[in-house]
Amino acid sequence: MKYQVNENGFYGEFGGAFIPEMLYPNVEELRKQYLDIIATAEFQKEFHQLLKDYVGRPTPLYFAERLSAKYNTKIYLKREDLCHTGAHKINNTIGQILLAKRLRKTRIIAETGAGQHGVATATVCALMGLKCIVYMGEIDIQRQAPNVARMKMLGAEVRPATSGSKTLKDATNEAIRDWINNPIDTFYIIGSVVGPHPYPDMVAKFQSIISEEIKKQLHEKEGKENPDYVIACVGGGSNAAGAFYHFLDEEKVNLIAVEAAGKGIHSGESAATSVLGKIGIIHGSKTLLMQSEDGQITEPYSISAGLDYPGVGPLHAHLHDTKRAEFIAITDDDAMAAGLNLCKTEGIIPAIESSHALAVLDQKKFKKDDIVVINLSGRGDKDLNTYINYFEL
Ligand SMILES: *Cc1c(COP(=O)(O)O)cnc(C)c1O
Repeated sequence: MKYQVNENGFYGEFGGAFIPEMLYPNVEELRKQYLDIIATAEFQKEFHQLLKDYVGRPTPLYFAERLSAKYNTKIYLKREDLCHTGAHKINNTIGQILLAKRLRKTRIIAETGAGQHGVATATVCALMGLKCIVYMGEIDIQRQAPNVARMKMLGAEVRPATSGSKTLKDATNEAIRDWINNPIDTFYIIGSVVGPHPYPDMVAKFQSIISEEIKKQLHEKEGKENPDYVIACVGGGSNAAGAFYHFLDEEKVNLIAVEAAGKGIHSGESAATSVLGKIGIIHGSKTLLMQSEDGQITEPYSISAGLDYPGVGPLHAHLHDTKRAEFIAITDDDAMAAGLNLCKTEGIIPAIESSHALAVLDQKKFKKDDIVVINLSGRGDKDLNTYINYFEL
């Protein structure tokens, strides 16, 4: 229980709900009801049915034989890249849309940076026939044109955020403003283990299917449920939270959280929040946050759009604080090399986010009979242009 959220929504000193007064009724409605609704047999049945038939779960736990031989250890890949829409994010949006329906909400809002969460949200809104509005910074709309097109095809309206740096945090501000103005009919689907309580806990619970499956699958393959290491990349932290969840209290399982060091941790172009961050409030939550001396949020950088976030969720801040997880920062160059290595060694083109987790294999020495599970959070289709430009393909 040491790593579970407490009644007030805190993990150690991190978390809580630091929200404008006007948002209080919305967040409170959700906080009072989410655990009860999720626990009903009826919710669980529909959630698991959709995970199975729509998302394609369980995703395989794949023993990567050639990769294992190369690094002289036992490497398993949890194949979230095979989920419908190409990444783990859909696990969470399915859960939240089912919750929204039970709270009788008819209008869904979301914000997105890279567009992956926007696509996952637009997908489940189409599935359920609900109206979907996705806020996105004007700059991000230009940078992520294919995902904008996907959202539109799925029936979502993409609204540009034109203030500030015209990126994710401005889109978040717009989404919050919308929610304040539409408190009755609107549900705000947040895409990672961030935001005010109860979102971090709720999202972690929806993503915890990842470690639930790993346990079962490892038991079948290795005769034991617990690996020696679980490695996952961290943007906001949802795929890592899901991959770690059922191992949090198994202190013998080493957890490795991988952040983006961009062009180098201290280059000024990085997203290594655990090193550079200080305690602050972002998106309604008290957590580690990259900020200037006077508390302005620093614009983060990573070659991977999904890791380009100036904070981490409060669970991860707590895992860092308590040293339950080891944090490693991987540069753009090392991630790209690790991504290409997976292509050539296993025939799998990973998302660049996931390539950061793979790069740990070059940074850390594992023993021959260690069981190392790497969460392959997504596939690389969306990143083809970045790969093309980087490797001059
Ligand atoms: C969004 C995304 C991430 C980062 O988000 P988390 O909430 O930290 O998981 C990682 N990998 C992929 C493939 C993503 O799309």
